[in-house]
Amino acid sequence: MQTQILGYPRIGSQRELKKICESYWAGTTGYKNVLQVGKNIRKENWELQKNLGVDIIPSNDFSFYDQVLDHSLMFGAIPQRYNAVATKAGHSELDLYFAMARGCQKDGLDIIAMEMTKWFDTNYHYIVPEFYKNQSFSLFSTKVIDEFYEALQLGITTKPVLIGPVSYLLLGKEKEAGFDKIDLLKNLLPVYVELLKRLKSLGATHIQFDEPFLVLDLSEKEKQAYQTTYQQLRKAFPELKFILATYFGALEDHTDLTLSLPVDIIHVDLVRGPQQLDEVIGKIPSEKTLSLGLVDGRNIWKNDFENSLSIIKTAVEKLGKDHIWIAPSCSLIHAPVDLELEKNEAVLTSEIKQWMAFAKQKVAELSTLKQLALGEEATLAKEKLAQNNSAQQSRKSSPLIHNVEVKNRVKNIINTDAERKNNFAKRRILQQEELQLPAFSTTTIGSFPQTTEVRSWRAKLKKGSLNQVQYDQLIAIETEKAVRWQEEIDLDVLVHGEFERNDMVEYFGEQLNGFTFSQNGWVQSYGSRCVKPPIIYGDITRPTAMTVKWTSYAQSLTSKYMKGMLTGPVTILQWSFVRNDQPRSETCTQIALAIRDEVVDLENAGIKIIQIDEPAIREGLPLRKADWKAYLDWAIKAFRISASGVKDTTQIHTHMCYSEFNDIIDSIAAMDADVITIETSRSQMELLNAFADFKYPNEIGPGVYDIHSPRVPNKDEMVDLLKKAATVIPKEQLWVNPDCGLKTRGWDETKRALIEMVEAAKMMRNS
Ligand code: GLN
Ligand code: ZN
Repeated sequence: MQTQILGYPRIGSQRELKKICESYWAGTTGYKNVLQVGKNIRKENWELQKNLGVDIIPSNDFSFYDQVLDHSLMFGAIPQRYNAVATKAGHSELDLYFAMARGCQKDGLDIIAMEMTKWFDTNYHYIVPEFYKNQSFSLFSTKVIDEFYEALQLGITTKPVLIGPVSYLLLGKEKEAGFDKIDLLKNLLPVYVELLKRLKSLGATHIQFDEPFLVLDLSEKEKQAYQTTYQQLRKAFPELKFILATYFGALEDHTDLTLSLPVDIIHVDLVRGPQQLDEVIGKIPSEKTLSLGLVDGRNIWKNDFENSLSIIKTAVEKLGKDHIWIAPSCSLIHAPVDLELEKNEAVLTSEIKQWMAFAKQKVAELSTLKQLALGEEATLAKEKLAQNNSAQQSRKSSPLIHNVEVKNRVKNIINTDAERKNNFAKRRILQQEELQLPAFSTTTIGSFPQTTEVRSWRAKLKKGSLNQVQYDQLIAIETEKAVRWQEEIDLDVLVHGEFERNDMVEYFGEQLNGFTFSQNGWVQSYGSRCVKPPIIYGDITRPTAMTVKWTSYAQSLTSKYMKGMLTGPVTILQWSFVRNDQPRSETCTQIALAIRDEVVDLENAGIKIIQIDEPAIREGLPLRKADWKAYLDWAIKAFRISASGVKDTTQIHTHMCYSEFNDIIDSIAAMDADVITIETSRSQMELLNAFADFKYPNEIGPGVYDIHSPRVPNKDEMVDLLKKAATVIPKEQLWVNPDCGLKTRGWDETKRALIEMVEAAKMMRNS
């Protein structure tokens, strides 16, 4: 039995990677320093895994930005527009690499970045490979080889990690018509062969191929590509040990295919796909080894040793201990680095901390599991098992986690709790009477610029150099300024600006019971950007109102409507680490009840329009289509529970920024929000077609300008977009608003853009 790690966090325990990259981009540090920090992080990671007893340690899991981009550079899949960077004197390979990741706007160049998108259903984003018709590949960068050699020099023979050829192609995008990316396989495979040849000659014995697409729906052609790929690689390298890594789900209908591939070790994710165990054990050919993904690579909870040991036992009984490896479920880049860095009892109490494990702790868990399974170091291992058992016990029964009242409230939810009193057609008439809003009503999505100054107040409050009263005073002034200014430019529905909020999920998490936070629990989101998700550990309750104070204050300043601004239950769930001792749907419903109470409190405080943001609904979709319905059923219901406690005259808005809704438009409609604001400007209103084709019945605010760019659009452009929208959606249904919140923008561009936007709406009214 061996232990293996599929990948270890590369940001460094102190986010060293972020810091060095950002200072390199800012021009305040040199190229050599960047390389050195990379080298230090790799060394630290390898030695840590070695010291913790890992048998098979990965290399090439490090990356300065993204592992998919590393492969594109490695294979020479470099779009032509970067030639200018590649050939410019004084530019290194790293500059080319960063230009592909981030675009390049210096030295007289102006080249856009490659597209970025989410890595399966995680919050990690990768750089999408660009493929062209006559795409050729060649071994352009030797990163894999260099890192293997670097570890070798440290006395560690690593297992190079590669994205498998099929997954690499499937991750990319055809940038012109007339070919199928999967047909590029014949050009790509020779490069893998060359790479493996060189790794082998340096002494590599094991190669890991990541093929996560094996847990997704696949076409016949794609399935065939898997056969071709691994047969060819096997033929070229009969003696290398191939590890095929699948993760994020179960093999299901691809079980036979996967088990038939000529590889030596097959890794399966038993956290996300525990149901596949029996079938895989039953079918795996006897010469192959099964790697059990037992330790959750995507969450922060301690492994349940008893449970893992019983799985190992079953597998060993059937396959023999020489044919079993154990591992985390997937790469550990989705987990924070080191729980030992959490030392502040006021942030994370030791009672909760004892239930948790970050990446480093997960590596240690793996070694302990192996010792326990094999009966090695019996006394010490047994002690660890006893500790683990007592942590599991304490978590199961802790009053911190369990709240009978909430559990009962969830149990007693009835259908009408998820329904407004009347249907939209009736509500609409009531709301029109009540609100008397003009055609093409204007509004914004919630946040106004979070300037450095605003953020500095929060930092000072934390440090104690501002007290609560002083802080509140500053926020009040900023809010009043925003209200006055919105009145001045004549927006119809105002917002308070969200100046008091650090982040749209954290702000609510901090006020709800059942959430905790970490000081250093950073996880890479993309490139140098890291996020620190809140941690949901227990039943959720709302001790007091969360937004009523600032919303009512803002409303008291104006006779126009002030829109209440909340984050929805699905988004709060999706952007947090979630407890694993109950279904996600249960946790989501608890959050929904808390938000419902907040909505009702806002209504009671005289707020007539309330927005519940759900930008994360779509990204929560399961990887397999067959699982979509179950997810959508509970997710949409949770939203409806949060929205349905109010009178019919109260208008509920929702907002989503990622608007590719073609395949789930009926569920979006089923949310039954009175108004939905969406992102559409970048696609020139094309995304609106889904709503038009569906005949979406409720009101819609298609974003008329892209807030992700500092560019200020003029009113004519926005009128054009609105006219376009009006050709597909009846104009009585249309609202006018930007694509998303404005917190990342500066005031100057925000003001100029919104003045134009209000003008555009008025032109539409008069036309
Ligand atoms: N109300 C939020 C804001 O304006 C919405 C953010 C989002 O959609 N991601 O910032
Ligand atoms: Zn948005």
